[in-house]
Amino acid sequence: MKVNPMAKQAIQLSKKKRTKYRFQKLKMCKKCNRYSVLQDEHCPKCGSTFVEIEGLVNSIVKNRLFTEAIRILILVCIGIVAAPTVKTLYLSLITGVIFVISYIILTFVFIKSEHFIQLKKLLRVDLRKIQAGIQFDSDLAKEDVKAEKLAQAYEKLREIGDFIYSNQVKIRRVMVLNEILLRKDMELELEPLIPSSYDKDFVKYALEVLKINRTLITKKCISFFIIYRDEIVRDFGMDSLIAVAGTALRMKLYILEFSAFIEEFLEYFPKDRFLRLCNILYSNPDANWGSLEEKAMRLVEMKYHYDPDFKRFVS
Ligand SMILES: [Zn+2]
Repeated sequence: MKVNPMAKQAIQLSKKKRTKYRFQKLKMCKKCNRYSVLQDEHCPKCGSTFVEIEGLVNSIVKNRLFTEAIRILILVCIGIVAAPTVKTLYLSLITGVIFVISYIILTFVFIKSEHFIQLKKLLRVDLRKIQAGIQFDSDLAKEDVKAEKLAQAYEKLREIGDFIYSNQVKIRRVMVLNEILLRKDMELELEPLIPSSYDKDFVKYALEVLKINRTLITKKCISFFIIYRDEIVRDFGMDSLIAVAGTALRMKLYILEFSAFIEEFLEYFPKDRFLRLCNILYSNPDANWGSLEEKAMRLVEMKYHYDPDFKRFVS
C-alpha cells in the first residue's frame, strides 16, 4: 500500500448490516459447502445464493421433526396392522392419536430451545469449516487491497472484524482506513478498533478521526493515549496528546475521570476549549475537581485576566 497522504482515496462506504447476535452474520453456500460473513448475497465462487445460518438451522429442525413424525406414524400403523382384535385396533388408534397430539404440543413448547440446541451443535461441528470460510473472506479482502479497491476491502474487513476481535484484523482495518480520505458522513468506528498493545497505525487513524468527529474519542480511547503516551509523543509529538486531552473537555464525566491528564496540558488548550472547561468547573462547584480547579483559576488570573469572556471567573 502507498503511504503518501496526498494519494488518499475518496470513497463511499456502504452502511453496515447490523444483527442482534454475532452468529447471525454467518451464511453458507450450499454448493461450495463454504461459510462466509461478508455482505454478498451470492457466492463469489459459484454464484449461488447464500443461505443464512438461521435458515440452515430451520431446515435441520424441520428435517428432524419430519423424521420423528414419520417414525410415530409407522409405529401407529404397525399397531393397527398387528392388532389381533377390533378392540386392540381402536386402542392403538386412540394411543396413536394421543401420541401425535402430545408430540405436536411438545414441539410447539420446545421449538425455540430445539432451535438453539441445533444451532449450538451446528456451530460446534462446523467450527473448522467456519474458520476456513472466514479465511477465504479475508483473502478476498487482501486481493481487494492489492487491486486498490479500498472501499470493498474495508467493507469486507469490517464484517470480518465484527466476527473476530483479533488485533490482526483490527490493524488491517486501520491500515486500509489510513489510505482513505475520511469524511464526517462516513459511518466511522474507533473504539472497536483499539488494539491490545501500542500500534502506530491505530494512533495515526485515531488522530485523523479526532479532527472529523471528536465524539468518537471515548473513555477507552483516551485511556489508550494515556497508557502509551511515551510512544505517542515519540511518534506523533506532544500536540497529539494535547488534542486528545482537549477532547476530554466535552463532558463533565470525562473531565472528572481524566482531571490529572487535562491539568498537564491546561496552558496549551486553545481559548475556546479552556473557556468551556472554566464554564463546566464554574457551574459545578460541588464536584471534586482536585487540583484542576485551582490550576485553572490560576491560569485565568495569569493569562485571561483582562479577557471579557473570562470576566465572571475573575474574583
Ligand atoms: Zn459457492
